Amino acid sequence: MSRLTGIAVSDGVAVAKAYLLIQTDLSFDKIVVSEVDDEKSRFDAAIASSIADLQVIREKAAKSLGKEQAAVFDAHLMILSDSEMIGDIKERIQTDKINAEVAFKEVTSKYIDLFENMDDNPYMQERAADIRDVTKRVLAHLLGVALPDLSMISEEVIVVANDLTPSDTVQLDRRFVKAFVTDIGGRTSHSAIMARSLEIPAVVGTNEITSLVKKNDVLAVNGLTGEVIINPTSKERENFLSEEKKYIEQKEKWKLLKDAETLTLDGRHFELAANIGTPKDVTGVLDNGGEAIGLYRTEFLYMGAADFPTEDEQYEAYKMVLEQMHGKPVVVRTMDIGGDKKLPYFDLPKEMNPFLGFRALRISVSEEGNGMFRTQLRALLRASVHGKLRIMFPMVALLEEFRAAKVLYEEEKAKLLVDGISISEDIQLGVMIEIPASAMLADKFAKEVDFMSIGTNDLIQYTMAADRMNEKVSYLYQPYHPSILRLIKNVIDAGKRERKWVGMCGEMAGDQTAVPLLVGMGLYEFSMSATSILKTRSLMKRLDTKKMAELSDRALSDCNTHEEVEKLVHRYVGE
Ligand code: PEP
Ligand code: MG
Repeated sequence: MSRLTGIAVSDGVAVAKAYLLIQTDLSFDKIVVSEVDDEKSRFDAAIASSIADLQVIREKAAKSLGKEQAAVFDAHLMILSDSEMIGDIKERIQTDKINAEVAFKEVTSKYIDLFENMDDNPYMQERAADIRDVTKRVLAHLLGVALPDLSMISEEVIVVANDLTPSDTVQLDRRFVKAFVTDIGGRTSHSAIMARSLEIPAVVGTNEITSLVKKNDVLAVNGLTGEVIINPTSKERENFLSEEKKYIEQKEKWKLLKDAETLTLDGRHFELAANIGTPKDVTGVLDNGGEAIGLYRTEFLYMGAADFPTEDEQYEAYKMVLEQMHGKPVVVRTMDIGGDKKLPYFDLPKEMNPFLGFRALRISVSEEGNGMFRTQLRALLRASVHGKLRIMFPMVALLEEFRAAKVLYEEEKAKLLVDGISISEDIQLGVMIEIPASAMLADKFAKEVDFMSIGTNDLIQYTMAADRMNEKVSYLYQPYHPSILRLIKNVIDAGKRERKWVGMCGEMAGDQTAVPLLVGMGLYEFSMSATSILKTRSLMKRLDTKKMAELSDRALSDCNTHEEVEKLVHRYVGE
């Protein structure tokens, strides 16, 4: 039995057999073949089986997470139908009389090298990564060995991996995958965000889970505390199972609040909204009693696709979300690409510090990026008649950036009106406050925008100068640190003075220790993973706004550290 602690990123408790995501041995020898036709048929069969696998994976991904995220697999299928490459491989089998594995590896390596050496072209490098993935699948079929295919899991397991990419995560089937545990990652990494939307308990950043877990081990995972036990004793197993039962019962109680108003003990209303990545997520928002969508991350429309989504494709996605929300507010964030979110078909420059580089609104208002931004704005403007649309610009540091985006917005709006297209008269334009510069200048922003939403995932990263993807510095993710609280208070106060609503769409908005502080400061809208809404509504029922205002004042004036604030909150609210 060993015990370790990681970062708890998705609620829930589970006990099940470990499924260790390890790379299969795909080594082989060079063989001279005499029956070249048989060898070519063997190769054709491996390609056909790989195509069949990928079609199943793509369908599963489309069902569980939507078409946009499933599009990753279209690129893989395209490679397997590349007649030039396939022809080249068969030619080698024929002329060199070598086994299919060798011919296949030689040809695909040539393509991989070619693409990888196009140094400054991320699109080509992505293609190299796709070919490498596909190569593994075909080789596994040729060698008759199984690949660890997450989408094929059909018994209850806990997935253990060094890391899970978004394309691994889309394959997880929550009926079978009871939890996942990784070596690396942090609370705001995208696999963590996806785990919450899939409602799969998860613990990340354990550093060493893959080196400790062996085949047939049993794991007990607590996604609420970050605790993981390998081969628990029967007593520990019982404890975890009783925690799981408690959590499930608690969830049942929270469900009763689905249609209730979000009111504090003293009857004040706050808006509980949800963050979504695709139109499919709206069902989860409504099932969890969401009063609004506070952040629609539109970059999933762009990522994983083979090309920029067209205006009509975007219009359909936005319309679907607005219609399903039946007049409840929907904050759509314009594309937030760059940083860790690359587009295979958009040639972004290679950068030393992509998180500090050419990304998000910086791209949108630039010469090379404003064409796609205009397309997005047109799609949004056209969709606006289907609901209550709010448009939010990400990564704003300067007022001039907001103004530049607004000019493009007004230009597209004017063009559409000339063309006789109807546009809602109730669209609001707001900014995400996720850079300390704009948090400090919130009083000036508040005069020009309709709303501000605080993106704490990045605001904390930039304030602490601590990469949100790096578990070595994850201790600096300190949402209750007085420096962060001061920035947040500055934004909320600025909004109040100008009578502009202020929300929060970073993970902190659903953090149960932060909520009492934010209620005390007078934040209006809290946007979080849909699965955190009901527990937050339940918590708010216990909070008195005057007492919480006293709590936040004391946290701001008396506390020096994150821990001191945490203790103070627990003293006011209880554990
Ligand atoms: C944030 O930065 O807080 C945020 C909500 O945006 P993202 O996590 O997509 O960067
Ligand atoms: Mg952000």
